[in-house]
Amino acid sequence: MAEFDILVRGGTLPDGRVADIGTRGARIAAVGDLAGSSAGRVIEAAGDLVSPPFVDPHFHLDATLSYGTPRINASGTLLEGIALWGELKAQATVEEMVERALCYCDWAASMGLLAIRSHVDTCDDDLKGVQALLHVRDVVKPWLDLQLVAFPQDGFFRDPNAQANTLRALDMGVDVVGGIPHFERTMEEGRASVRALCEIAAERGLLVDMHCDETDDPLSRHVETLAHEAQRLGLQGRVAGSHLTSMHSMDNYYVSKLLPLMAEAGIAAIPNPLINIVLQGRHDSYPKRRGLTRVKEMQAHGILVGWGQDCVRDPWYSLGTADMLDVAFMGLHVAQMTSPAEMRRCFDMVTVENARIMGLEGYGLHEGAVASLVVLDAGDPVEAIRLRPDRLAVIAKGRLVAEKARNDTLLALDGRPATVRRRHRPGTLG
Ligand SMILES: [Zn+2]
Repeated sequence: MAEFDILVRGGTLPDGRVADIGTRGARIAAVGDLAGSSAGRVIEAAGDLVSPPFVDPHFHLDATLSYGTPRINASGTLLEGIALWGELKAQATVEEMVERALCYCDWAASMGLLAIRSHVDTCDDDLKGVQALLHVRDVVKPWLDLQLVAFPQDGFFRDPNAQANTLRALDMGVDVVGGIPHFERTMEEGRASVRALCEIAAERGLLVDMHCDETDDPLSRHVETLAHEAQRLGLQGRVAGSHLTSMHSMDNYYVSKLLPLMAEAGIAAIPNPLINIVLQGRHDSYPKRRGLTRVKEMQAHGILVGWGQDCVRDPWYSLGTADMLDVAFMGLHVAQMTSPAEMRRCFDMVTVENARIMGLEGYGLHEGAVASLVVLDAGDPVEAIRLRPDRLAVIAKGRLVAEKARNDTLLALDGRPATVRRRHRPGTLG
């Protein structure tokens, strides 16, 4: 019998080490020099980057791949997107939501994206999205970890049935408590919604992840309440604020007080750069605000920050590919994370740091970790962000689930090489 089920040979790990990785069952059995070992299947990584899987801590699987149904978002704003989603969800069926979500999960597997936190709308009396995504969570479980967030899209207090329906969704097995305080009718109701939802999470022992302050209004300060409630209820390390775009426009003095409060409360932040670079600033003329939260400043205070994708072909965003490297690429640009260390950090944000936010068990490339990894047609994390290259192999929980042959472009140029790959030139930084 072979020593390993799968042996990935000679890969470059994100920290620069070159190592072989052997898997047995659903776990990584060995990492190091495994020359001479036998395996049921050998993958020759030969210097290619081998990374733990990509992780997306912020997505909407109930809305994905619905672009154009029933119409497109003409203004490009968050608010028209919410209205459009209201029209779509009234006519959507559970079966159709399952089909779209599973199709997206196929895309994700092909890109080595093997853990997704998806919000699911809990403002529909039939809880169609909840039914659909609970089913999808079961179907994809052998290869993809799907964590669901009960998300009262139309407002926990603003929608008359949202409170009861959100509790019902949690009773049905939805994992995380969500919210949208900036969409409640008043600042006071927004604060009250954060308080009530954090109390529900504390009572039930659940994580919290709220859409929070996704606006250009500098006075939208619900993140302050979120941090306060996390601390008051002992939820440190279990709460995330998604978007936090108002922080872009806040007064610097106020932010200097806010960031230490967030760090003390142990809350994480999930900016979604692809989406917020297109949604925010729509009410501005020029200069037009970028609307991305203060990523580097939060990191300097020790706050855990991940990158989320949020949307792919839905009422809010017309593009998207299930590639977390697209997300890292946009985040790197908009947050100006351009030093070598900052670029590397952008790769960590879509892998290890997002995994910490989701609380994934056994994540990583160490012995005993879950045998999930991705082989990329790139030599290191920065090159991966630059190229957003093909995934040559994806292993999920011990099974090879996606493969793609290396696909160098053939050139026909006099006196020039026959193929081109666009990798860094050997021995140089670029
Ligand atoms: Zn979202």
